[in-house]
Amino acid sequence: MTNENPIIRVENLYFSYNREPALADVSFRVEEKDFLAIIGPNGGGKSTLVKLILGLLEPDSGTIRIHGKPPSKTAHCFGYVPQDVNINIDFPITVLDVVLMGRLRQGGRFSMNRKDRHKALEVMETLGIRGYAERKIKDLSAGQRERVFIARALAANPEILILDEPTASVDTEGKTELYHLLRELNETKTVIVVSHDLMIVSSYVKSVACVNQTVHYHPNNEITGAMIEMGYQCPVELIAHGQPHRILKTHEDF
Ligand code: ADP
Ligand code: MG
Repeated sequence: MTNENPIIRVENLYFSYNREPALADVSFRVEEKDFLAIIGPNGGGKSTLVKLILGLLEPDSGTIRIHGKPPSKTAHCFGYVPQDVNINIDFPITVLDVVLMGRLRQGGRFSMNRKDRHKALEVMETLGIRGYAERKIKDLSAGQRERVFIARALAANPEILILDEPTASVDTEGKTELYHLLRELNETKTVIVVSHDLMIVSSYVKSVACVNQTVHYHPNNEITGAMIEMGYQCPVELIAHGQPHRILKTHEDF
């Protein structure tokens, strides 16, 4: 299933906050053009894993390689939508301003030129938010705002898009639209999404990583019993809305 040149390779990774282990003995690979869901309980280490891959945190030990290089050298490969982008939205910044921020790291300039503006507007067009360019972000719905932050992440045309719980505050219709969009983006990019939406995960993604201090990587989108226990506080609800006849496997079956 894996080849010799994965886009992301994590080996024997350990990470603690103040000696409190958050991740231990984590090894897995992500192939190019994968659409990977990262699931797991609150506090399981999902956001920490994402930040390590992005180079925002340093491992205590172990290796992370992006195209064979350490994360400190590969920031340009990533577009990142952090968790909780929907808080602190009260300041009067426009949609276009937020998307333009995504162009800032292009050469470390602090002024925007016509090309930056053109690219920002082009990405906004793709995401269906071009019409909101001059609106304040606080005046958008959670789903529209999420698209603004995805547009910011895409503005520098990254190879890998990572989203940390993008649909947490989005309604069901908005969630489906967002996953449709991610599937389209996955035609040209590797997409990694941290999510609690197991049902949606199973119909859109290609693979699943279960994170609870360590990582189980599943190279397909089949829901297992262990995933439900990890990703969902309420398996009954999942089964009620999902496919109740599926035989659920545990990690031991892999
Ligand atoms: P998840 O995203 O799966 O909810 P996190 O990666 O945010 O989990 O957190 C993993 C563990 O690390 C939790 O126990 C959390 O309390 C702890 N943690 C997260 N961020 C910090 C931090 N900045 N300082 C100390 N502990 C942290
Ligand atoms: Mg998190």
